[in-house]
Parts: sequence; C-alpha cells; structure tokens
Amino acid sequence: MTPLPTPLLRLDVVSIFPEYLSPLSLSLVGKAITSGLVGLRVHDLRDWTHDRHRTVDDTPYGGGAGMVMKPEPWGEALDDVLGDDTADTTLVVPTPSGVPYTQAVAASLATRKRLVFACGRYEGIDARVMAYYRDRVDTQEISLGDYVLNGGEVAALAIIESVVRLLPGVIGNPESLVEESHSPDLDGLLEYPVFTKPLEWRGLSVPDVLLSGHHAKISAWRREQAERLTSDRQRPTV
Ligand code: SAM
Repeated sequence: MTPLPTPLLRLDVVSIFPEYLSPLSLSLVGKAITSGLVGLRVHDLRDWTHDRHRTVDDTPYGGGAGMVMKPEPWGEALDDVLGDDTADTTLVVPTPSGVPYTQAVAASLATRKRLVFACGRYEGIDARVMAYYRDRVDTQEISLGDYVLNGGEVAALAIIESVVRLLPGVIGNPESLVEESHSPDLDGLLEYPVFTKPLEWRGLSVPDVLLSGHHAKISAWRREQAERLTSDRQRPTV
C-alpha cells in the first residue's frame, strides 16, 4: 500500500460534541483528509475528566446565569493534544468576543502546519485557559461574526473549510481561488454575478457582454459589477 503523504496541515478539534464535526468527512475537506493532504483528529473533552459524571462545567465565580467550562479538563486536553512541539501551531479559540474572522485570517491560518481548535460551550471557557496558553503557543481568539452560537463547533467547521480550500491541491482548478469575493486579486471586492446555461431562464437572459467573446470587455464588465455590488452592500474594500 502506498503510504499517505505527510499532511500539509494537521487539525485537532476538542469538543464535548465530537459528532458535530462529522461533516468534515464530506466533499472537498473529506477528500483532502482521505488523500492524506490534511490530517484530522477530533477529541472528546470529557475524555480528560476524572469524575463519574465526566463534568466539564461549573457555576461562574461572581454569580450570574449559566455555567462556565472548567479549566482542568481543558488544561489536560490541550497539554496532550498540543504536545511539546508547538512550532507552527495555532490554538484557535472560537468566541463571539474574538477578532472578526476574514479571508485574510483564513489565508494566514492556511500557512500554519497545525491548528488546534478549542470549542467552548455554555458561557465559554474559564478565561485562565486562554491566558495560560497565550504565553506558550500562538493563540487566536476568533469570532465568526456579531451573533452568538451555542458552541464553537460551527465556527470550527467554517474556519476549517475556509482554510483547507486554500491549500494547494484541494480545489481542482486553483484559478477558482483567484477571482473570489474578499480575495486580494479582486482587491477585496465581492465577486461579480455569474451565469450558466440556459441562455434564457424564466424570461431572464444572460448579459450580452458575456456572450461577446471579447475578454477585455468581459473583464471590464465584471470589474464594474464587482465594484457596484461591493458599494451597494456597503462592504469595505482593501
Ligand atoms: N457568554 C459568551 C459571550 O457572551 O461572549 C457566549 C458563549 S456561547 C453561548 C458558547 C460558545 O459558542 C463560545 O464559547 C464559543 O465557543 C461559541 N461561539 C458563540 N458565538 C460565536 C461566534 N460568533 N464566533 C465564534 N464562536 C462563537
């Protein structure tokens, strides 16, 4: 049997709902894992608890609603998962109070050798966990957007998918990555509208310029459409 290549990127995800990560076996990310381009391990945080109830949460100091994830299971889990060699590793902690996730952050994560995701639940993870690891490993607290999810798993899925598709060999035609919304090649603009066959659909037709075969005119039209869309949606450009 041919041995699998050394993965370009190793992913570890720690969660109390490992099943939540099952979509990673599908589509292009799934293929990247099967081919050995990407290594994935999903861990159950409760494997690092020592009581009968496999407790991972407790009441917050200072009072208030909800429960907070205890530091001990997180510390033991992350020590084991991170191991001693944390060079080229980023610990990603999804949180609504983190740095907003953008294509530029995805591109920078895609240059790392290993990403370890710590998926919080309840009111989040005891803040000492992030304080401790921040001094020991590149740690990035990342927000998927200005809304609150129930847990970090959906954020981890979104981050993993957006990072893995940037790795060489994952997208069949790497040109697809060039003129995409938020990409540097489009100067951060949104992508222009796209069309395929049939030419007429429910009384709507494809813009004539796209049928002209005139590459310069098509490029100019696409640029103008991208600029208009970006301005209409009040999105920033780079
Ligand atoms: N009490 C926290 C707050 O107000 O900032 C929210 C905790 S949230 C209910 C539980 C977990 O979901 C968080 O620890 C984080 O892992 C994840 N999460 C929620 N919203 C998120 C977002 N916008 N981006 C990334 N992760 C998020």
